[in-house]
Amino acid sequence: MDFDLTEEQRAIREMVARFAEQEIAPHVRSYDQEERFPLEIYAKMGPLGLTGGVIPEAYGGAGMDHVTYALVVMELARHCQALGAAASWASGVTGVSLLRYGSDALKRKYLAPLAQGQGPVAIALTETHTGSDVASMRCKVTRTRDGYRLNGAKTWVSMIRSCRWILAFGTLDPALGHKGICAFVVEPDWPGVQAMPFKHKVGFRPMETGEISFENVAVPAENLVGNEGEGFRVAMCAVENGRLGVASRCCGMLRACLEESLAYIPTRETFGQPIGHRQLIQSKVTDMVLWHETATLLTLKLARLKDQGQRARVEASMAKMYASDMLMRAAEHAMQIHGAYGCSDDYNVGRYWRDAKFMQIIEGTSEIHRSLIAEYALGYRK
Ligand SMILES: Cc1cc2nc3c(=O)[nH]c(=O)nc-3n(C[C@H](O)[C@H](O)[C@H](O)COP(=O)(O)OP(=O)(O)OC[C@H]3O[C@@H](n4cnc5c(N)ncnc54)[C@H](O)[C@@H]3O)c2cc1C
Repeated sequence: MDFDLTEEQRAIREMVARFAEQEIAPHVRSYDQEERFPLEIYAKMGPLGLTGGVIPEAYGGAGMDHVTYALVVMELARHCQALGAAASWASGVTGVSLLRYGSDALKRKYLAPLAQGQGPVAIALTETHTGSDVASMRCKVTRTRDGYRLNGAKTWVSMIRSCRWILAFGTLDPALGHKGICAFVVEPDWPGVQAMPFKHKVGFRPMETGEISFENVAVPAENLVGNEGEGFRVAMCAVENGRLGVASRCCGMLRACLEESLAYIPTRETFGQPIGHRQLIQSKVTDMVLWHETATLLTLKLARLKDQGQRARVEASMAKMYASDMLMRAAEHAMQIHGAYGCSDDYNVGRYWRDAKFMQIIEGTSEIHRSLIAEYALGYRK
């Protein structure tokens, strides 16, 4: 597989790297501490095409290929995984679902502003009793004369304070399993929608994650995404595309762990020698270099396969699981290399370590991906 980047891909990567260095890096620590999503920075990303990603220009997107999109997300997440997430959701997760399943009217009303960076989006799948087993959701959908009513609650939903709209899921009848699920575009200020962000999460602090309840929410018929009962497909489209975004975010954070460690090591001496001369420190650096390189290759391979029009489900699981598991280990190495300073908020590595754990849980846990990879290898899944 050819991993050479085109001149255009290199130029976009450099532009995003400069943007992230100038606009994100100086502020990330403060909005992480304030537990708020930086809308003021997000607003600058739209005009640069960073929220438009793979969405076609006809719908306000940037019309990027998946490799370019992955590079953009990596560069954003190098400094702030939350902005990498918001960019990836706008085009590669929720945006792609609306592009594939939404009516033309929905695309014009909701997709185009999203791709242009007019506010982030939320996706509401998880419920208190279920995360991995999406099909067992209970949030209730009832048909009405001119549309639907939504009743129930979702939890661990990100961007609930700043989102412009929510891709929300419910079921016509839990007994129908995945065949009963419907997807809707819901606006956060509609009567009956209430968002309650969690406070003091371990990581992912700017993501505004929390609970969202729907009490007799009237949803117009035209806000149904796809057909009745097609919501599970819409959800899987979002989640599967999300894996490229998560893997890319992990690669950006892996690089951050490595680079912060490489910058710190020469500044520290113990017993009369720089710690960089200690083999046990060198071994950690070697691990991080290899993990970053391997995760990036798996992620770019996935992006290339998508550009060739392949679904690449196993490759998506491999990239997401490997990149997030190795990120967790790299963040631990980076903390250890920094000694006590790793535990201080004055250094970034503590934040990477706190955020890394969440990467192993979202968009399919490591255990779920491990099972999927084995089931494909064993021929239990085709
Ligand atoms: C910071 C954060 C942000 C999130 N944002 C969103 C969001 O925006 N929207 C949204 O809808 N959800 C969101 N989630 C929820 C996330 O998608 C779920 O947490 C995830 O799907 C896992 O579900 P769960 O937490 O219910 O764990 P469970 O599914 O209950 O799993 C518990 C444990 O059992 C293991 N397990 C489960 N099933 C299997 C199996 N078949 N084989 C082996 N092991 C298994 C899991 O790997 C895990 O270790 C977010 C979560 C976090 C932490």
